[in-house]
Amino acid sequence: MIIIMLGAPGTGKGTIAGLLEGKLGFKQVSTGDIFRKNIQKQTELGKLANSYMEKGNLVPDDVTIKIVEDRLEQPDVQNGIILDGFPRTVAQAEALDKILEGKGKKIDMVLNLTTPEEEIIERVVSRRVCSNPECKTIYNVIMNPPKQEGICDKCGSELIQRKDDNEETIKTRIATYMEQTSPLVEYYKNQGILKTEEVSQRINRLAKDVADDIESEITC
Ligand code: AMP
Repeated sequence: MIIIMLGAPGTGKGTIAGLLEGKLGFKQVSTGDIFRKNIQKQTELGKLANSYMEKGNLVPDDVTIKIVEDRLEQPDVQNGIILDGFPRTVAQAEALDKILEGKGKKIDMVLNLTTPEEEIIERVVSRRVCSNPECKTIYNVIMNPPKQEGICDKCGSELIQRKDDNEETIKTRIATYMEQTSPLVEYYKNQGILKTEEVSQRINRLAKDVADDIESEITC
């Protein structure tokens, strides 16, 4: 099964993908996490990615597509994959369709998440992430704080704030989403595989509620 997480930054893609990985056993693959790991290890890819990410811009398509193409070859994603943050442009979506076609596979569901912009900004600036790459649990210091400040409940590692989770960069990231990623809503609607879900306190619908519903839909 192949699921795509679509949506502006801070709508809950990573949280829902992580919950679905736990429930369904499909592997969550986040291009943002792959870039961050490379930045941490100071690889050439990391240096290149950082120069785009710190400004809230997208890493070039050719680089990103190659990473996903290679990742799709790995044995751990053959039973199911949740692509979290890819594709983010029409060129990436077209490339993915072609790659999958070559493997005789297709996308089963595109989960398009929406959240009001004020809520996104509030959510992103109060987001903290577990620094342990095997855990990566996401917290919110207001809505979903850890039991002990700065420490992950699950694995005891330090919680960190992403460098691009600040008010200035998030505004650029939202603008980048509107310009380059939002056309994918129409792209996948036309393929008949789009499922849109609002994740918002406004309607009291949290990431967990959406993940529960998607799990029921897939397993029923
Ligand atoms: P994320 O962790 O998904 O919020 O991604 C963080 C940043 O990584 C984005 O703001 C982009 O700079 C970069 N990035 C992640 N995925 C992609 C992608 N599919 N295409 C281009 N850049 C990406």
